[in-house]
Amino acid sequence: MRASRKGEHISGAEGIFERSVINDAVRAYVDRAYSHSRGLPDRVVITIEELKVRPVFLKSLPVYTVDIKTNDEAWEFIKRFLFSVGVSMRAFENALFVVQSGIVMRGASIMTFKTGRRLEPDTARGVRATRLGITQEAEETLFSVIDSYKLNRTVVSEAIVLATKVAAFKDVIAELCVSDDPDYTTGYVSSKRTGYLRVPNIKEEGEKKGGRVIFVSEDADINGLIHYLENTPVVIDSIGEFKGIVSPDEAIPVFNN
Ligand code: AMP
Repeated sequence: MRASRKGEHISGAEGIFERSVINDAVRAYVDRAYSHSRGLPDRVVITIEELKVRPVFLKSLPVYTVDIKTNDEAWEFIKRFLFSVGVSMRAFENALFVVQSGIVMRGASIMTFKTGRRLEPDTARGVRATRLGITQEAEETLFSVIDSYKLNRTVVSEAIVLATKVAAFKDVIAELCVSDDPDYTTGYVSSKRTGYLRVPNIKEEGEKKGGRVIFVSEDADINGLIHYLENTPVVIDSIGEFKGIVSPDEAIPVFNN
């Protein structure tokens, strides 16, 4: 689903479903399109495509929540985390621009982790990861864990599914996400090696800016990555551990091992 107003992105969402639940899924996407806190769309596009290849099945990344109380702490942590996985100052600054400029993209920026070059062919649009889903059984498990932490089911589960798909590509170093939803102030950083780290207070309440940056190796197979994100169906069929709250100091050395 893609919703926009005067050509500007409002919201989008995607999933992989059994034929028998498509009608319900479409209804739910239409409801979402018309109830997003970024505003009412004047155009909603729903595309339904049959999968032509068998999905890749993955276990979701382990999830941590970093104990962060302020926006300053959030960014200090993100910087330390990204440096610890090898991201340079230059790439960090370029990523900050992507998530804080106020130019909201439909998809993600793909950035080399040392030289900070943007590799997405269309920097206004970005690259959108689609064809990603979760089995009903895995979703039930994930929802019950999410409920036990009193988190938002849809937002958290979709982000974990997406981050798991992104992290599984060989040239991906890490991902940074700041929601563009003004009501949602928890972002994340993730990687295959460290798991998915929820970062509260990544932005101030009411802020419409947001974005995603996928950091990749300097010699990344960019065409292969774009093809994988847009076309390879990935389905989460088991759920990684939810490890609860960790302090920023604990987080980095632990994940650096
Ligand atoms: P959200 O977490 O849905 O608020 O999205 C935050 C930002 O991430 C959006 O502004 C987009 O730039 C990007 N984004 C959202 N969904 C996707 C996706 N499926 N693939 C790539 N980037 C996305």
